[in-house]
Amino acid sequence: MIYKRSSALFAEAQKVIPGGVNSPVRAFKAVGGDPIFVKKAKGAYLYDEDDNTLIDYINSWGPMILGHAFEPVVSAVVEKAKKGTSFGMPTEIETKIAELAVKMVPNIDMIRFVNSGTEACMSAVRLARGYTGRDKIIKFAGCYHGHSDSFLIQAGSGAVTFGAPNSPGVTEGTAKDTLLASYNDLENVAEIITNNKNEIACIIIEPVAGNMGCIPPQKNFLQGLRTLCNDNNILLIFDEVMTGFRLAAGGVQELYDIKADIVTYGKVIGGGLPVGAFAARKEIMRHLAPLGPVYQAGTLSGNPLAMAAGLAMLTHLDENPDVFKSLNKKTAYLHNGLSDVLTTQNVPHTINREGSMISVHFSETPVVDFKTAANAANNGKFNIFFHSMLSQGIYIAPSAYETWFLCDALTYEDLDKTIEAAAVAAKSL
Ligand code: PMP
Repeated sequence: MIYKRSSALFAEAQKVIPGGVNSPVRAFKAVGGDPIFVKKAKGAYLYDEDDNTLIDYINSWGPMILGHAFEPVVSAVVEKAKKGTSFGMPTEIETKIAELAVKMVPNIDMIRFVNSGTEACMSAVRLARGYTGRDKIIKFAGCYHGHSDSFLIQAGSGAVTFGAPNSPGVTEGTAKDTLLASYNDLENVAEIITNNKNEIACIIIEPVAGNMGCIPPQKNFLQGLRTLCNDNNILLIFDEVMTGFRLAAGGVQELYDIKADIVTYGKVIGGGLPVGAFAARKEIMRHLAPLGPVYQAGTLSGNPLAMAAGLAMLTHLDENPDVFKSLNKKTAYLHNGLSDVLTTQNVPHTINREGSMISVHFSETPVVDFKTAANAANNGKFNIFFHSMLSQGIYIAPSAYETWFLCDALTYEDLDKTIEAAAVAAKSL
């Protein structure tokens, strides 16, 4: 494949945009080479500026669960845009999407919309602190909750890809209130709680982690966290920015039958427009301004175009719950196919999967936390695999720490093509 025009556009971009990108992982720094500039996308395919066609396993890092340019979403946005793009005043559609979200998700009474996953998580933590009157939070190494200061402590995703888990600019004062725990290690969490008795406002977690590759919670881990939170008056925050409306209509709360106190959303809930949200029971949400003292706001929050896209997306998922089963089946098919070809070629590997989130780690050691994910990522095999897949028209995330997100527009023919490409890639490892 030729990427001449993409490389030329990247050279231009670098003159006026830091690193040529508006979000670091896009720059291909982890895997090497120039990033690909997209011209358009439809269904499961990306069409780049050099007119290459790529099968897309990133899907805008999760939102495009039904594929790109999904017609009901596109027409909802176009129709809304004709009536004005922002008012800074309440609109009916905000209540409509809120009602639908509250109906689809267990255990939430109220939801507030923001503009990104970062904002959602940042606001959820502020709410937890305001509600409990405590300062400290527990987060897990390798989990990413956006780029707000308190979360850039051993964060996953781009923060680890670029070797700067503790970003300059995050003050010591902020960092000291973020306590780090090991994913899937309940004893470690219990110990931290004991050492910080009555000081911890919340535990925030990706209930299925997706920012150190995909790492599902081990048996009883989430339930154990729930119990620890109950026993110590700590709020449990599920960051469902990736998993919400993807793994099930009700996200991980539904899938694992565990209730969180505050839940954050992003990605699918906005249908590809800039949307995040956080939600909880009334008793907690009433502490938020203007009802209560915890301040949070946004000029473009509840933006009509974003709400129109989100409402069209959630409506489709609500009316077609088989989408989740179909995605599960397709991803299981891919999982088996990849596993077969890697085994045939004697490539040591671990494939982690939960629903339509999947990641391939080039190590036989089970990948259950940040340490094991980092060990698997460090052998350089992922980068070779990535470039071989790309040269065959398969676009997976450009970092060993990212999860692949499938969309329901993928056909079994696409999946077979992907598995065949993986067989070729495996030979080069
Ligand atoms: N939480 C999780 C679990 C995420 O994966 C992300 C982004 N990948 C965020 C929060 C931050 O979302 P955003 O990039 O929309 O700010």
